[in-house]
Amino acid sequence: MYLKSIEISGFKSFGKKSVLDFNVPISSIVGPNGSGKSNVAEAFSFVLGEQSIKSLRGKRAEDLIFNGGKDAPRSNRASVKLVFNNIQRILNIDFDEVAIERVVNRDSSSEYFINGSPVRLKDIIELLSGAHIGASGHQIISQGEADKVLNSNIRERREMIEDALGLKIYQNKKDESVRKLEKTEENIKQVESLRKEIAPHIRFLKKAVEKIEKMAEMKEDLTKMYHDYFRREEEYIKFEKQDIFNGKNPLLENSRRLEKELIEAKQILAKSTSKDSRSDEVVNVEGKLKETRILKDNLMRSIGRIEGEITSLFRMIKKQNEANSAMSNKTVNLSQVENISKQIDLEIDGVTESHDFSKIKEIFASIKKILKDFIERNKENEDKQAIIDLENEIKKLEDEKGDHEMKLKEANNLETELSEQYSFLKNNIEKEKDSNRDAEKSLFRIVAEQNDIRGKINSLESRELRLKHDEEELNRELQEASILVGVCALRYKDFWPKDADGNVLSLDQVVREPRQVQEDKRRVMEKIKIRLEDAGISGGDDVVKEYKETTERDTFLERELEDLIKSSESLKNLIKELEDKLATEFRNGVTKINIQFQQFFSAMFGGGSATLSIVKEKKKKKSDTDLPTESDGEEIVEEEEDSEEGLDIEVSLPKKKIKGLMMLSGGERALTSIALLFAISQVNPPPFIILDETDAALDEANSKRYGEMITELSKYSQLILITHNRETMARAGIIYGVTMGSDGVSRLLSIQFEEAVQVAK
Ligand code: ATP
Repeated sequence: MYLKSIEISGFKSFGKKSVLDFNVPISSIVGPNGSGKSNVAEAFSFVLGEQSIKSLRGKRAEDLIFNGGKDAPRSNRASVKLVFNNIQRILNIDFDEVAIERVVNRDSSSEYFINGSPVRLKDIIELLSGAHIGASGHQIISQGEADKVLNSNIRERREMIEDALGLKIYQNKKDESVRKLEKTEENIKQVESLRKEIAPHIRFLKKAVEKIEKMAEMKEDLTKMYHDYFRREEEYIKFEKQDIFNGKNPLLENSRRLEKELIEAKQILAKSTSKDSRSDEVVNVEGKLKETRILKDNLMRSIGRIEGEITSLFRMIKKQNEANSAMSNKTVNLSQVENISKQIDLEIDGVTESHDFSKIKEIFASIKKILKDFIERNKENEDKQAIIDLENEIKKLEDEKGDHEMKLKEANNLETELSEQYSFLKNNIEKEKDSNRDAEKSLFRIVAEQNDIRGKINSLESRELRLKHDEEELNRELQEASILVGVCALRYKDFWPKDADGNVLSLDQVVREPRQVQEDKRRVMEKIKIRLEDAGISGGDDVVKEYKETTERDTFLERELEDLIKSSESLKNLIKELEDKLATEFRNGVTKINIQFQQFFSAMFGGGSATLSIVKEKKKKKSDTDLPTESDGEEIVEEEEDSEEGLDIEVSLPKKKIKGLMMLSGGERALTSIALLFAISQVNPPPFIILDETDAALDEANSKRYGEMITELSKYSQLILITHNRETMARAGIIYGVTMGSDGVSRLLSIQFEEAVQVAK
């Protein structure tokens, strides 16, 4: 025996703990109406995990808990414990005895226990399904539900048979796999959409990273070029500086020397600038000399004239004296006349040498006076006074002569002095003229040399200027390079230029290289710099990092997707396998049931035929399944996408032309359903079967047949029969009587058959 006992406590009318032991193949429960017999059957459903309160004849979970009665307080919880003998391990759990318990509290919470340990409902269902005890309740036929299997639609009927055949476990697995598959497919969609979402970002980042890598390459190339260029440039500048210095130094020295020479020459020439004043001086001395000579001449002439006059006066005095002594009528002495003529000639001589008109006038006046004086002297009487006057005149003239002679002496001295001065000046001027000529020659030479040097210095200075510009440019480029490619660009001193074949160049080769070569390199570098700047250089590391992270994420998603696809495939395979297994087992099960069904049916009706057939119907025609259509035996309806498989029942009563369930009488329906239930139970016998007044509609003859079948059935499953039927009771090994007192509490008592018959009545 598998079923040992049931303990009911606080469940429905069982306000007090009641235990029913089932250590016989057939146990019977009898009692008057309303005493609580069906509550026992429901206690079985309850403990096996029934979730529908309605099918337990309640509205709420609370309805399952003893509500109290007269002198009996209501319970807070309802509990039912079913105890199995598991020595044969009909339940897949390593205990010889297994107690399954369910408790429901007033707050509607349910608790499940296996051997006192709390478990989930799922664990109970799994454990029981392995022993062909299912939640669909095929082994518990409630009161009035005997023909439930006939009234069900094809799908419900199929589920019931699957349950009875122990296929529920596969069905559950399949359902779970389908749920998992749905979830997996949802995840696949999510992962695919995630990958789709990040794909453009990855593409963008990839391009950016390629650009960055390209830039890094360009930077590397540029750095190498910088090293070569900077080193060459620095060597060139160093060399040029020294070369210019070497060239410029002697030129500057020469220039300084020439400057000195120039100053000297200029000084010499500057002196000649006084030449004009000296010439003026010469002219001045010349003029003075000339004036002095004229003065001298005039003085000498005056002295001559005065001497003439004095002589003349002396003669006149003589004449006077003679006149005075001689006759008054006197002739003029020729010598006197000649003397006068001489005086006049002298005067005229003075005129011929002078162009001065006033002088001429003066001479004429003096000639006039000479003549007048002569006439006067001759006219005069010989008197003393005239002689005195003449002597006074002579005295006066001699004074004048003396004055003139003194002046003449001074003029002579002055002339000598001026002549000397003149000669000196003339001499000096000549000498200066010579040295000026030399200085001028030097000046020309110096200027020419200076021009030459200046030209050379100018060319060196323009080289210097270019070099300065080159040096500034180098510094600027160094600065720019350190910003653009980093400080590594400044480590050019560690490198030495090589030729295209990698041969190390000499310093001379480096510095003598045509500048155009460096310029060409600079242009190439400039182009790379522009490309680098255009590409932008900031945030490169972040982009690479982000690209790495994003691609890693994408790879992770890709792997996840692969895993999901794999698991979806394996789930599909599993579902397929389960479906195949279900289909095969189901077909095999149905075939076996059909054999039993036919036997029980013909045993019940004394002939006829009954068959279960597998049918497929479209889902939308589901309502039709309530009224199953006739079909040709076990032939399977062609598969349709939206179709579902179900079970149809075909019966044919002996000696009657009745075909189809609809046309059966109440008793015939009860017998058919009992035959089917028994057939199902025979094929895959559950450990126990509870039949709640399944025999109620049977007449005496049928009750007998029913009793025989029960005996047959009890060989495979323990039977618990709730009945009022005497025939049925007679086959029980133990009979429990259920009574309900005035307190509304159901009570149990083990009774004898006779008592039972009594009670049942
Ligand atoms: P019958 O022979 O007429 O089918 P029965 O013996 O099968 O009757 P049950 O249907 O099992 O009787 O029991 C019904 C009784 O149980 C009713 O009297 C009902 O009042 C009682 N009952 C049901 N639920 C509760 C509950 N929660 N608390 C107390 N009594 C309850």
